[in-house]
Amino acid sequence: MTNPLFDTLFGAHVGRSDPFLHLPDGQTLTYDAFLQTAARLARLTARLGLTPGDRVAVQVAKSPDALALYAACAQAGLVFLPLNTAYTGAELAYFIEDSGAALVVCDTRDEAALAPLCATLGARLETLGADGAGSLMTKAAEEAPRFQTAARAYSDLAALLYTSGTTGRSKGAMLTQENLLTNALTLVEAWRFTADDVLLHALPIFHTHGLFVATNITLAAGGSMIFQPRFDLDAIFAALPRATTMMGVPTFYTRMLDDPRLTRAATEHMRLFVSGSAPLLAETHAAFAQRTGQAILERYGMTETGMNSSNPYEGARRAGTVGPPLPGVEVAITEAESGAPLPQGEIGQIEVRGPNVFAGYWNMPEKTAAELRENGFFQTGDLGRIDEAGYLHIVGRSKDLIISGGLNIYPKEIETLLDAQPGIRESAVIGVPHPDFGETVVALLVPEPGATPQIDAITAAARAELARFKMPREMILVDDLPRNAMGKVQKAQLRARYADLFT
Ligand code: ATP
Ligand code: MG
Repeated sequence: MTNPLFDTLFGAHVGRSDPFLHLPDGQTLTYDAFLQTAARLARLTARLGLTPGDRVAVQVAKSPDALALYAACAQAGLVFLPLNTAYTGAELAYFIEDSGAALVVCDTRDEAALAPLCATLGARLETLGADGAGSLMTKAAEEAPRFQTAARAYSDLAALLYTSGTTGRSKGAMLTQENLLTNALTLVEAWRFTADDVLLHALPIFHTHGLFVATNITLAAGGSMIFQPRFDLDAIFAALPRATTMMGVPTFYTRMLDDPRLTRAATEHMRLFVSGSAPLLAETHAAFAQRTGQAILERYGMTETGMNSSNPYEGARRAGTVGPPLPGVEVAITEAESGAPLPQGEIGQIEVRGPNVFAGYWNMPEKTAAELRENGFFQTGDLGRIDEAGYLHIVGRSKDLIISGGLNIYPKEIETLLDAQPGIRESAVIGVPHPDFGETVVALLVPEPGATPQIDAITAAARAELARFKMPREMILVDDLPRNAMGKVQKAQLRARYADLFT
Protein backbone atom coordinates (compact mmCIF):
# COMPACT_ATOMS: atom_id res chain seq x y z
CA MET A 1 0.00 0.00 0.00
CA THR A 2 1.30 3.41 -0.85
CA ASN A 3 -0.80 5.36 1.63
CA PRO A 4 -2.51 3.09 4.16
CA LEU A 5 -4.86 5.70 5.62
CA PHE A 6 -6.07 7.04 2.30
CA ASP A 7 -6.19 3.68 0.56
CA THR A 8 -8.17 2.01 3.33
CA LEU A 9 -10.61 4.75 4.28
CA PHE A 10 -11.07 6.56 0.99
CA GLY A 11 -9.35 4.88 -1.93
CA ALA A 12 -11.32 1.69 -1.37
CA HIS A 13 -14.48 3.58 -2.36
CA VAL A 14 -13.31 5.19 -5.61
CA GLY A 15 -16.00 4.85 -8.26
CA ARG A 16 -18.70 3.70 -5.83
CA SER A 17 -22.05 5.26 -6.52
CA ASP A 18 -23.38 4.43 -3.04
CA PRO A 19 -24.33 7.30 -0.77
CA PHE A 20 -21.69 8.68 1.58
CA LEU A 21 -23.46 11.78 2.94
CA HIS A 22 -27.17 12.52 3.27
CA LEU A 23 -27.44 16.30 3.37
CA PRO A 24 -29.98 18.60 5.04
CA ASP A 25 -31.38 19.77 1.69
CA GLY A 26 -32.37 16.21 0.85
CA GLN A 27 -29.46 15.66 -1.54
CA THR A 28 -27.18 12.68 -1.33
CA LEU A 29 -23.48 12.85 -2.01
CA THR A 30 -22.08 9.61 -3.38
CA TYR A 31 -18.69 8.24 -2.49
CA ASP A 32 -17.56 8.85 -6.03
CA ALA A 33 -18.61 12.49 -6.07
CA PHE A 34 -17.07 13.07 -2.67
CA LEU A 35 -13.77 11.51 -3.73
CA GLN A 36 -13.68 13.55 -6.92
CA THR A 37 -13.97 16.72 -4.88
CA ALA A 38 -11.23 15.45 -2.59
CA ALA A 39 -8.97 14.74 -5.59
CA ARG A 40 -9.56 18.24 -6.98
CA LEU A 41 -8.63 19.69 -3.60
CA ALA A 42 -5.54 17.50 -3.38
CA ARG A 43 -4.42 18.76 -6.81
CA LEU A 44 -5.05 22.30 -5.71
CA THR A 45 -2.86 21.90 -2.62
CA ALA A 46 -0.07 20.62 -4.87
CA ARG A 47 -0.54 23.56 -7.22
CA LEU A 48 -0.33 25.90 -4.23
CA GLY A 49 3.07 24.38 -3.53
CA LEU A 50 2.26 22.16 -0.57
CA THR A 51 4.24 18.95 -0.16
CA PRO A 52 3.71 15.89 2.08
CA GLY A 53 4.14 16.67 5.77
CA ASP A 54 2.93 20.28 5.43
CA ARG A 55 0.19 21.30 7.86
CA VAL A 56 -3.19 22.53 6.68
CA ALA A 57 -5.02 24.51 9.37
CA VAL A 58 -8.76 24.53 8.81
CA GLN A 59 -11.28 26.61 10.70
CA VAL A 60 -14.53 26.40 8.78
CA ALA A 61 -18.17 25.49 9.29
CA LYS A 62 -19.07 21.81 9.15
CA SER A 63 -19.79 20.93 5.53
CA PRO A 64 -19.19 18.15 2.98
CA ASP A 65 -16.43 20.30 1.44
CA ALA A 66 -14.69 20.58 4.80
CA LEU A 67 -14.77 16.80 5.05
CA ALA A 68 -13.46 16.51 1.48
CA LEU A 69 -10.54 18.69 2.53
CA TYR A 70 -9.70 16.08 5.19
CA ALA A 71 -9.76 13.39 2.50
CA ALA A 72 -7.63 15.60 0.23
CA CYS A 73 -5.01 16.01 2.96
CA ALA A 74 -4.90 12.24 3.42
CA GLN A 75 -4.47 11.75 -0.32
CA ALA A 76 -1.77 14.42 -0.67
CA GLY A 77 0.07 13.32 2.49
CA LEU A 78 -0.64 16.62 4.23
CA VAL A 79 -1.22 16.94 7.96
CA PHE A 80 -4.85 17.89 8.60
CA LEU A 81 -5.32 20.36 11.43
CA PRO A 82 -8.95 21.15 12.14
CA LEU A 83 -9.73 23.98 14.56
CA ASN A 84 -12.68 24.63 16.82
CA THR A 85 -14.92 27.20 15.16
CA ALA A 86 -15.23 29.03 18.48
CA TYR A 87 -11.55 30.05 18.54
CA THR A 88 -10.97 33.71 17.82
CA GLY A 89 -8.14 36.21 17.54
CA ALA A 90 -5.20 35.38 19.76
CA GLU A 91 -6.19 31.71 20.16
CA LEU A 92 -6.28 31.23 16.43
CA ALA A 93 -2.99 33.03 15.96
CA TYR A 94 -1.41 30.64 18.46
CA PHE A 95 -2.58 27.53 16.58
CA ILE A 96 -1.55 28.83 13.18
CA GLU A 97 1.84 29.98 14.36
CA ASP A 98 2.53 26.98 16.61
CA SER A 99 1.70 24.50 13.87
CA GLY A 100 3.70 26.33 11.19
CA ALA A 101 0.77 25.76 8.84
CA ALA A 102 1.61 26.16 5.14
CA LEU A 103 -2.03 26.66 4.26
CA VAL A 104 -4.84 28.15 6.32
CA VAL A 105 -8.44 27.66 5.25
CA CYS A 106 -10.91 29.93 7.02
CA ASP A 107 -14.48 31.05 6.68
CA THR A 108 -15.02 33.72 4.05
CA ARG A 109 -15.97 36.25 6.73
CA ASP A 110 -12.71 35.78 8.66
CA GLU A 111 -10.45 36.40 5.70
CA ALA A 112 -9.73 40.07 6.37
CA ALA A 113 -8.91 39.41 10.01
CA LEU A 114 -6.51 36.53 9.24
CA ALA A 115 -4.78 37.87 6.14
CA PRO A 116 -2.15 39.99 7.94
CA LEU A 117 -1.19 37.12 10.27
CA CYS A 118 -0.89 34.64 7.42
CA ALA A 119 1.17 37.11 5.42
CA THR A 120 3.56 37.57 8.36
CA LEU A 121 3.88 33.83 8.87
CA GLY A 122 4.20 33.06 5.18
CA ALA A 123 1.10 30.84 5.17
CA ARG A 124 -1.26 30.75 2.20
CA LEU A 125 -4.84 31.68 3.00
CA GLU A 126 -7.92 30.35 1.23
CA THR A 127 -11.57 30.66 2.19
CA LEU A 128 -14.44 28.22 2.47
CA GLY A 129 -17.96 29.12 3.50
CA ALA A 130 -20.56 26.68 4.82
CA ASP A 131 -22.25 26.71 1.40
CA GLY A 132 -19.03 26.05 -0.52
CA ALA A 133 -18.48 29.70 -1.40
CA GLY A 134 -14.98 31.14 -1.23
CA SER A 135 -11.66 30.80 -3.00
CA LEU A 136 -10.94 27.17 -2.12
CA MET A 137 -13.76 25.51 -4.02
CA THR A 138 -13.61 28.06 -6.82
CA LYS A 139 -9.99 27.16 -7.46
CA ALA A 140 -10.57 23.45 -6.91
CA ALA A 141 -13.30 23.48 -9.56
CA GLU A 142 -10.62 24.23 -12.16
CA GLU A 143 -8.69 21.09 -11.24
CA ALA A 144 -9.16 17.63 -12.70
CA PRO A 145 -10.96 15.15 -10.40
CA ARG A 146 -7.98 12.81 -10.20
CA PHE A 147 -4.88 12.82 -8.07
CA GLN A 148 -1.87 10.55 -7.82
CA THR A 149 -2.05 9.54 -4.15
CA ALA A 150 1.08 10.56 -2.25
CA ALA A 151 3.07 7.69 -0.79
CA ARG A 152 2.93 7.62 3.00
CA ALA A 153 3.88 5.16 5.72
CA TYR A 154 2.06 4.07 8.87
CA SER A 155 4.43 6.14 10.95
CA ASP A 156 3.82 9.38 9.02
CA LEU A 157 1.76 12.13 10.59
CA ALA A 158 -1.80 12.31 9.33
CA ALA A 159 -3.25 14.92 11.65
CA LEU A 160 -2.38 17.47 14.24
CA LEU A 161 -5.30 17.72 16.57
CA TYR A 162 -5.34 20.19 19.41
CA THR A 163 -6.82 19.01 22.71
CA SER A 164 -9.94 20.70 24.02
CA GLY A 165 -8.05 22.92 26.47
CA THR A 166 -10.15 21.80 29.43
CA THR A 167 -7.20 21.69 31.82
CA GLY A 168 -4.97 24.37 30.33
CA ARG A 169 -3.63 25.54 27.01
CA SER A 170 -4.53 23.17 24.15
CA LYS A 171 -1.73 20.88 23.07
CA GLY A 172 -1.20 19.68 19.49
CA ALA A 173 -1.40 15.89 19.44
CA MET A 174 0.60 14.37 16.58
CA LEU A 175 -1.47 11.52 15.19
CA THR A 176 0.01 9.05 12.75
CA GLN A 177 -1.70 7.10 10.01
CA GLU A 178 -1.37 4.04 12.21
CA ASN A 179 -3.05 5.77 15.17
CA LEU A 180 -6.09 6.74 13.14
CA LEU A 181 -6.38 3.63 11.07
CA THR A 182 -5.97 1.00 13.76
CA ASN A 183 -8.46 2.75 16.01
CA ALA A 184 -11.07 3.04 13.25
CA LEU A 185 -10.73 -0.64 12.32
CA THR A 186 -10.89 -1.72 15.96
CA LEU A 187 -14.10 0.26 16.49
CA VAL A 188 -15.76 -1.00 13.30
CA GLU A 189 -15.37 -4.48 14.69
CA ALA A 190 -16.20 -3.64 18.30
CA TRP A 191 -19.38 -1.80 17.36
CA ARG A 192 -20.26 -4.02 14.36
CA PHE A 193 -20.35 -1.31 11.71
CA THR A 194 -21.16 -2.37 8.14
CA ALA A 195 -21.84 -0.79 4.77
CA ASP A 196 -25.54 -0.84 5.69
CA ASP A 197 -25.10 1.56 8.56
CA VAL A 198 -26.44 5.08 8.43
CA LEU A 199 -24.90 7.18 11.17
CA LEU A 200 -26.73 10.24 12.43
CA HIS A 201 -23.90 12.79 12.60
CA ALA A 202 -24.58 16.01 14.51
CA LEU A 203 -21.15 16.39 16.15
CA PRO A 204 -18.56 18.98 15.14
CA ILE A 205 -15.83 17.72 12.80
CA PHE A 206 -12.96 19.63 14.41
CA HIS A 207 -12.81 17.15 17.30
CA THR A 208 -11.75 13.52 17.50
CA HIS A 209 -15.29 12.34 18.27
CA GLY A 210 -17.00 13.66 15.14
CA LEU A 211 -13.98 13.35 12.85
CA PHE A 212 -12.00 10.29 13.75
CA VAL A 213 -14.54 8.21 15.60
CA ALA A 214 -17.75 8.85 13.65
CA THR A 215 -16.35 9.66 10.21
CA ASN A 216 -13.44 7.24 10.06
CA ILE A 217 -15.60 4.36 11.23
CA THR A 218 -18.22 5.12 8.60
CA LEU A 219 -15.51 5.28 5.92
CA ALA A 220 -13.85 2.10 7.10
CA ALA A 221 -17.18 0.28 7.00
CA GLY A 222 -18.30 1.91 3.76
CA GLY A 223 -21.57 3.13 5.26
CA SER A 224 -23.17 6.55 5.11
CA MET A 225 -23.88 9.49 7.39
CA ILE A 226 -26.81 11.82 7.83
CA PHE A 227 -24.67 14.91 8.00
CA GLN A 228 -26.18 17.71 10.05
CA PRO A 229 -24.46 21.06 10.51
CA ARG A 230 -25.13 21.11 14.27
CA PHE A 231 -27.19 19.42 16.94
CA ASP A 232 -30.78 20.53 16.48
CA LEU A 233 -33.61 18.55 18.09
CA ASP A 234 -36.07 19.04 15.23
CA ALA A 235 -33.50 17.89 12.68
CA ILE A 236 -32.48 14.95 14.89
CA PHE A 237 -36.03 13.65 15.28
CA ALA A 238 -36.75 14.21 11.61
CA ALA A 239 -33.69 12.17 10.60
CA LEU A 240 -33.89 9.45 13.21
CA PRO A 241 -36.16 7.13 11.20
CA ARG A 242 -33.52 6.90 8.44
CA ALA A 243 -30.60 6.24 10.80
CA THR A 244 -29.26 2.99 12.25
CA THR A 245 -26.75 4.47 14.68
CA MET A 246 -25.97 7.74 16.40
CA MET A 247 -22.97 9.14 18.24
CA GLY A 248 -23.25 11.97 20.70
CA VAL A 249 -21.92 13.77 23.71
CA PRO A 250 -23.97 13.35 26.91
CA THR A 251 -25.77 16.68 26.41
CA PHE A 252 -27.27 15.31 23.16
CA TYR A 253 -28.92 12.56 25.16
CA THR A 254 -30.14 14.74 28.02
CA ARG A 255 -31.65 17.13 25.51
CA MET A 256 -33.34 14.29 23.65
CA LEU A 257 -34.72 13.07 26.97
CA ASP A 258 -36.25 16.49 27.58
CA ASP A 259 -38.22 16.10 24.35
CA PRO A 260 -41.51 14.16 24.22
CA ARG A 261 -40.61 12.93 20.73
CA LEU A 262 -38.09 10.55 22.27
CA THR A 263 -40.09 7.34 22.46
CA ARG A 264 -39.59 3.63 22.08
CA ALA A 265 -41.24 3.77 18.67
CA ALA A 266 -38.98 6.60 17.48
CA THR A 267 -35.82 4.61 18.24
CA GLU A 268 -36.99 1.02 17.74
CA HIS A 269 -35.10 0.58 14.48
CA MET A 270 -31.82 1.98 15.88
CA ARG A 271 -29.13 -0.58 16.59
CA LEU A 272 -26.73 1.63 18.53
CA PHE A 273 -26.41 4.91 20.44
CA VAL A 274 -22.86 5.80 21.51
CA SER A 275 -21.85 8.41 24.07
CA GLY A 276 -18.49 9.91 24.95
CA SER A 277 -16.26 12.98 25.37
CA ALA A 278 -17.64 13.66 28.83
CA PRO A 279 -19.18 11.48 31.54
CA LEU A 280 -22.69 10.20 30.89
CA LEU A 281 -24.61 10.26 34.15
CA ALA A 282 -25.79 6.81 35.19
CA GLU A 283 -29.17 8.47 35.60
CA THR A 284 -29.22 9.59 31.97
CA HIS A 285 -28.34 6.07 30.87
CA ALA A 286 -31.18 4.66 32.97
CA ALA A 287 -33.73 7.25 31.87
CA PHE A 288 -32.87 6.69 28.20
CA ALA A 289 -33.18 2.94 28.61
CA GLN A 290 -36.47 3.26 30.38
CA ARG A 291 -37.94 5.55 27.75
CA THR A 292 -36.61 3.84 24.64
CA GLY A 293 -35.40 0.38 25.59
CA GLN A 294 -31.95 1.38 24.26
CA ALA A 295 -28.83 1.01 26.41
CA ILE A 296 -26.51 3.85 25.38
CA LEU A 297 -23.01 2.48 24.84
CA GLU A 298 -20.47 4.65 26.65
CA ARG A 299 -16.84 4.68 25.61
CA TYR A 300 -13.72 6.55 26.68
CA GLY A 301 -11.08 8.27 24.65
CA MET A 302 -9.19 11.46 24.05
CA THR A 303 -7.45 13.50 21.38
CA GLU A 304 -4.07 11.89 22.08
CA THR A 305 -5.23 8.29 21.87
CA GLY A 306 -8.50 7.98 20.07
CA MET A 307 -10.68 5.42 21.84
CA ASN A 308 -9.28 3.34 24.68
CA SER A 309 -12.17 1.49 26.22
CA SER A 310 -15.76 0.75 25.41
CA ASN A 311 -18.76 -0.93 26.89
CA PRO A 312 -19.46 -4.09 24.94
CA TYR A 313 -21.74 -4.31 21.92
CA GLU A 314 -22.92 -7.65 23.14
CA GLY A 315 -22.93 -8.13 26.89
CA ALA A 316 -23.62 -5.83 29.79
CA ARG A 317 -23.35 -2.09 29.19
CA ARG A 318 -22.79 -0.81 32.69
CA ALA A 319 -23.97 2.70 33.41
CA GLY A 320 -21.34 4.89 34.99
CA THR A 321 -18.48 2.85 33.50
CA VAL A 322 -16.61 3.12 30.22
CA GLY A 323 -16.19 -0.60 29.77
CA PRO A 324 -13.15 -2.84 29.32
CA PRO A 325 -10.12 -1.82 27.24
CA LEU A 326 -10.60 -2.17 23.48
CA PRO A 327 -8.73 -5.01 21.75
CA GLY A 328 -5.08 -4.03 21.30
CA VAL A 329 -5.22 -1.31 23.95
CA GLU A 330 -3.65 -1.84 27.37
CA VAL A 331 -5.04 0.12 30.30
CA ALA A 332 -3.06 0.36 33.53
CA ILE A 333 -3.99 2.00 36.82
CA THR A 334 -0.87 3.39 38.41
CA GLU A 335 0.57 5.44 41.18
CA ALA A 336 1.09 8.65 39.22
CA GLU A 337 4.60 9.57 40.40
CA SER A 338 6.32 6.23 39.98
CA GLY A 339 4.09 4.63 37.37
CA ALA A 340 3.92 1.53 39.55
CA PRO A 341 0.75 -0.50 38.93
CA LEU A 342 -1.76 -0.39 41.77
CA PRO A 343 -3.60 -3.43 43.12
CA GLN A 344 -6.79 -4.30 41.25
CA GLY A 345 -9.73 -2.15 42.29
CA GLU A 346 -7.74 0.81 43.61
CA ILE A 347 -8.09 4.33 42.25
CA GLY A 348 -5.08 5.71 40.41
CA GLN A 349 -3.92 7.35 37.23
CA ILE A 350 -5.22 5.82 34.01
CA GLU A 351 -2.40 5.01 31.59
CA VAL A 352 -2.83 3.54 28.12
CA ARG A 353 -0.57 1.86 25.59
CA GLY A 354 -1.30 0.64 22.09
CA PRO A 355 -1.11 1.47 18.39
CA ASN A 356 -3.71 4.17 19.05
CA VAL A 357 -1.38 6.23 21.25
CA PHE A 358 -0.10 9.40 19.58
CA ALA A 359 3.48 10.22 18.63
CA GLY A 360 3.85 13.14 21.04
CA TYR A 361 2.89 16.79 21.42
CA TRP A 362 3.83 19.11 18.59
CA ASN A 363 6.69 21.43 19.58
CA MET A 364 6.52 20.29 23.20
CA PRO A 365 9.33 17.77 23.74
CA GLU A 366 9.31 18.29 27.50
CA LYS A 367 5.60 17.81 27.88
CA THR A 368 5.83 14.75 25.63
CA ALA A 369 8.63 13.29 27.74
CA ALA A 370 6.67 14.00 30.92
CA GLU A 371 3.48 12.29 29.77
CA LEU A 372 4.63 9.53 27.43
CA ARG A 373 6.62 6.99 29.38
CA GLU A 374 9.58 5.21 27.82
CA ASN A 375 7.70 1.93 28.10
CA GLY A 376 5.06 3.35 25.76
CA PHE A 377 2.36 4.12 28.33
CA PHE A 378 0.65 7.51 28.03
CA GLN A 379 -0.40 9.18 31.26
CA THR A 380 -3.90 10.35 30.49
CA GLY A 381 -4.37 12.73 33.40
CA ASP A 382 -7.59 10.91 34.23
CA LEU A 383 -8.14 8.98 37.44
CA GLY A 384 -9.98 5.72 37.56
CA ARG A 385 -10.24 2.17 38.74
CA ILE A 386 -11.00 -1.19 37.18
CA ASP A 387 -13.73 -3.26 38.80
CA GLU A 388 -13.92 -7.04 39.27
CA ALA A 389 -15.58 -7.44 35.89
CA GLY A 390 -12.72 -5.59 34.18
CA TYR A 391 -14.72 -2.44 33.47
CA LEU A 392 -13.01 0.92 33.77
CA HIS A 393 -14.58 3.60 35.98
CA ILE A 394 -13.43 7.19 35.54
CA VAL A 395 -13.51 9.16 38.76
CA GLY A 396 -12.34 12.46 37.33
CA ARG A 397 -9.25 14.24 36.12
CA SER A 398 -6.18 14.44 38.30
CA LYS A 399 -6.31 18.22 37.95
CA ASP A 400 -9.83 18.16 39.46
CA LEU A 401 -8.78 16.02 42.40
CA ILE A 402 -9.40 17.89 45.65
CA ILE A 403 -6.80 17.65 48.39
CA SER A 404 -8.25 18.89 51.66
CA GLY A 405 -6.19 18.73 54.84
CA GLY A 406 -3.89 16.29 53.04
CA LEU A 407 -6.70 13.89 52.12
CA ASN A 408 -7.69 13.00 48.55
CA ILE A 409 -11.29 13.67 47.57
CA TYR A 410 -12.67 12.44 44.26
CA PRO A 411 -15.40 14.78 43.02
CA LYS A 412 -17.25 12.02 41.15
CA GLU A 413 -18.19 10.19 44.37
CA ILE A 414 -19.81 13.31 45.80
CA GLU A 415 -21.40 14.28 42.48
CA THR A 416 -22.98 10.86 42.10
CA LEU A 417 -24.56 11.19 45.52
CA LEU A 418 -25.80 14.73 44.88
CA ASP A 419 -27.15 13.91 41.41
CA ALA A 420 -29.39 11.30 43.02
CA GLN A 421 -31.05 13.78 45.41
CA PRO A 422 -34.63 14.90 44.77
CA GLY A 423 -34.91 17.97 42.56
CA ILE A 424 -31.26 17.83 41.42
CA ARG A 425 -30.55 17.57 37.74
CA GLU A 426 -26.75 17.55 37.93
CA SER A 427 -23.89 18.81 40.03
CA ALA A 428 -20.25 19.79 39.90
CA VAL A 429 -17.97 19.41 42.88
CA ILE A 430 -14.80 21.48 42.96
CA GLY A 431 -11.97 22.33 45.35
CA VAL A 432 -11.44 25.97 46.27
CA PRO A 433 -8.68 27.53 48.38
CA HIS A 434 -9.24 27.40 52.14
CA PRO A 435 -7.00 28.96 54.79
CA ASP A 436 -7.04 25.93 57.13
CA PHE A 437 -7.33 22.98 54.78
CA GLY A 438 -5.49 24.17 51.71
CA GLU A 439 -8.55 23.29 49.67
CA THR A 440 -12.12 22.60 50.60
CA VAL A 441 -15.13 21.16 48.83
CA VAL A 442 -17.81 23.26 47.14
CA ALA A 443 -20.81 21.78 45.33
CA LEU A 444 -22.68 23.54 42.54
CA LEU A 445 -26.18 22.14 42.13
CA VAL A 446 -28.40 22.50 39.08
CA PRO A 447 -32.09 21.97 39.94
CA GLU A 448 -34.47 19.96 37.77
CA PRO A 449 -36.63 22.37 35.74
CA GLY A 450 -39.29 23.82 38.05
CA ALA A 451 -37.91 22.10 41.16
CA THR A 452 -36.83 23.84 44.37
CA PRO A 453 -34.30 21.51 45.97
CA GLN A 454 -34.16 21.50 49.76
CA ILE A 455 -30.53 22.18 50.62
CA ASP A 456 -31.05 21.17 54.27
CA ALA A 457 -32.38 17.77 53.31
CA ILE A 458 -29.61 17.29 50.76
CA THR A 459 -27.00 18.25 53.33
CA ALA A 460 -28.45 15.72 55.76
CA ALA A 461 -28.45 13.00 53.10
CA ALA A 462 -24.85 13.78 52.17
CA ARG A 463 -23.79 13.76 55.83
CA ALA A 464 -25.26 10.32 56.28
CA GLU A 465 -23.11 8.93 53.47
CA LEU A 466 -19.92 10.94 53.30
CA ALA A 467 -16.92 11.03 55.58
CA ARG A 468 -16.72 14.43 57.27
CA PHE A 469 -13.72 15.66 55.28
CA LYS A 470 -15.57 15.05 52.01
CA MET A 471 -18.64 17.08 52.97
CA PRO A 472 -19.15 20.13 50.77
CA ARG A 473 -18.58 23.21 52.92
CA GLU A 474 -20.97 25.08 50.69
CA MET A 475 -23.76 23.98 48.33
CA ILE A 476 -24.72 26.58 45.77
CA LEU A 477 -27.71 26.44 43.44
CA VAL A 478 -26.88 27.51 39.89
CA ASP A 479 -28.93 27.60 36.68
CA ASP A 480 -26.46 25.59 34.65
CA LEU A 481 -22.84 24.50 34.45
CA PRO A 482 -20.38 26.11 32.02
CA ARG A 483 -19.66 23.69 29.18
CA ASN A 484 -17.56 23.78 26.04
CA ALA A 485 -18.56 22.64 22.56
CA MET A 486 -18.05 18.99 23.48
CA GLY A 487 -20.28 19.24 26.54
CA LYS A 488 -17.39 19.15 28.98
CA VAL A 489 -17.97 20.94 32.26
CA GLN A 490 -15.40 23.70 32.59
CA LYS A 491 -14.25 23.11 36.15
CA ALA A 492 -11.30 25.49 35.86
CA GLN A 493 -13.81 28.26 35.16
CA LEU A 494 -15.86 27.25 38.19
CA ARG A 495 -12.78 27.15 40.41
CA ALA A 496 -11.86 30.66 39.29
CA ARG A 497 -15.40 31.89 39.89
CA TYR A 498 -15.51 30.59 43.48
CA ALA A 499 -11.82 31.04 44.34
CA ASP A 500 -12.48 33.74 46.93
CA LEU A 501 -15.28 32.01 48.79
CA PHE A 502 -13.18 31.28 51.89
CA THR A 503 -10.18 33.51 51.52
P1 ATP B 1 -7.10 19.21 27.58
O1 ATP B 1 -6.32 17.95 27.45
O2 ATP B 1 -6.60 20.27 26.65
O3 ATP B 1 -7.22 19.69 28.99
P2 ATP B 1 -9.46 17.59 27.12
O4 ATP B 1 -8.73 16.54 27.86
O5 ATP B 1 -10.85 17.91 27.55
O6 ATP B 1 -8.61 18.95 27.09
P3 ATP B 1 -10.11 15.96 24.85
O7 ATP B 1 -8.99 15.19 24.30
O8 ATP B 1 -11.13 16.50 23.93
O9 ATP B 1 -9.49 17.22 25.58
O10 ATP B 1 -10.90 15.13 25.93
C1 ATP B 1 -10.43 13.95 26.50
C2 ATP B 1 -10.92 13.84 27.92
O11 ATP B 1 -12.36 13.77 27.94
C3 ATP B 1 -10.47 12.59 28.62
O12 ATP B 1 -9.14 12.69 29.11
C4 ATP B 1 -11.52 12.47 29.72
O13 ATP B 1 -11.19 13.31 30.83
C5 ATP B 1 -12.78 13.01 29.06
N1 ATP B 1 -13.67 11.91 28.59
C6 ATP B 1 -13.79 11.38 27.37
N2 ATP B 1 -14.72 10.41 27.34
C7 ATP B 1 -15.19 10.31 28.60
C8 ATP B 1 -16.17 9.50 29.24
N3 ATP B 1 -16.87 8.60 28.57
N4 ATP B 1 -16.37 9.68 30.56
C9 ATP B 1 -15.67 10.61 31.25
N5 ATP B 1 -14.75 11.41 30.71
C10 ATP B 1 -14.52 11.27 29.40
MG1 MG C 1 -6.73 16.03 27.87
